[in-house]
Amino acid sequence: MRVLLTGGAGFIGSHLTDALVAAGHAVTVVDDLSTGRREQVPPGAHLVAMDILDPALTVLVVEQAPEAVFHLAAHASVSESVREPEHDARVNVLGTLNLLRACAAAGVGRFVFSSTGGALYGEPHTLPCDERHPIRPLSPYGASKASGEAYVHALAAQSGMDAVILRYANVYGPRQDPAGEAGVVAIFAARMLAGEPVTIFGDGEQQRDFVYVADVVDANLRSLEAGESGVYNVGTGVGTSVNELFASLARATGYALDPRHAPSRSGDVQRVWLDASAAHRELDWAPRTPLEAGIGATVESLRTGRVR
Ligand code: NAD
Repeated sequence: MRVLLTGGAGFIGSHLTDALVAAGHAVTVVDDLSTGRREQVPPGAHLVAMDILDPALTVLVVEQAPEAVFHLAAHASVSESVREPEHDARVNVLGTLNLLRACAAAGVGRFVFSSTGGALYGEPHTLPCDERHPIRPLSPYGASKASGEAYVHALAAQSGMDAVILRYANVYGPRQDPAGEAGVVAIFAARMLAGEPVTIFGDGEQQRDFVYVADVVDANLRSLEAGESGVYNVGTGVGTSVNELFASLARATGYALDPRHAPSRSGDVQRVWLDASAAHRELDWAPRTPLEAGIGATVESLRTGRVR
C-alpha cells in the first residue's frame, strides 16, 4: 500500500515506519523534526520535512495519494501543554484539521489517529477504564487530543474515510527521548545509567499503564486491516505505580540511590489503566511484552546509544 505517516521521525512513529517499510509498504513520512530525529527514519522511507500546519500539506498528500494515513505528529507533553496551551492546540487541533482536509482532498481511504487514553478520561471513576468512560481531560494536552478525535470523526464522516482512533496508555521503549518532559521510563533510566539523581513528582503512588512500543506498533498495523471505523484503548489493563517503576528500573540499571521527591505536577492524573478488550475483540490485538522485558530492552538501547 501507499502509506503516509506524520510524526514518523519521533519515538512511536519511527518504530511504526520501520514496521511498515519491513512489511513492503511505500512509506512517506511528514515530520517537522521539532522533536523527531532524521536518523530515526529508516532509509526505505521517504522523509518530507514539513510542518503539518503548512498549507502546502494538501499539495503533498494529493501528490502522494496514500491509501492510508497514520497521524502521530503532535505536541506530546502534558507539562508543556500546561505552560503553553496555545502551541499545543495549534499543533494538535489545527494541525490535525489541516491534515484531515488534505486527506479528504486526496481521497484517502483510511485514517488512523494516535490519541491518548492516559490523558483523555481525566481521573477515571471506573478502572480499568474503557472507551465509554466520559471524556474529562485534566490537561490542555488531553483537551487537544479529544478535540483532534472530534475532528477526525467529523471530517471522516464528511469525506467517507474510515477512521480508527487508538488511545494509548503510557508508551515506553527504545528511542523515547530521555531529555524530553514526557516519558518517565526513558527519563528515569537515562538518569540512573548516568548515576544522576532521579526526581519523583508527588509520593510516587500514582499509577499508570505502561505499554511497550512494539505492541503499540502492532495495534497500528492491525488498524490498517480493521473492518470499519472504531475507537480502541491500547494498554495492558495493569496499573504500575511510579515507585514500582523506579524499583524495576533501579534493578535493571544497578542504581543504588534513593529517589528525590518534588510536588505533583498540574495536569497529571493520579490513577489510570485501560481496558483494551475492544481492541482484543475487534483488532485481535493483545499486549505481548511484559514490563520487565520492555524495561530491559529500553535500558539496553540507552546503554548502547544505538538509534537502530
Ligand atoms: P514524539 O514527540 O517522539 O513524536 C512526535 C513527532 O511529531 C516528532 O517526530 C515531531 O518532530 C513531530 N512533530 C511535532 N510537531 C509537528 C508538526 N507541527 N508538524 C510535523 N511534525 C511534527 O512523541 P511520541 O511519544 O512518539 O508520540 C506520538 C503520538 O502518540 C502523538 O500523537 C502522541 O500524542 C501520541 N501518544 C503518545 C503517548 C506516549 O506515551 N508516548 C501516549 C499517548 C499518545
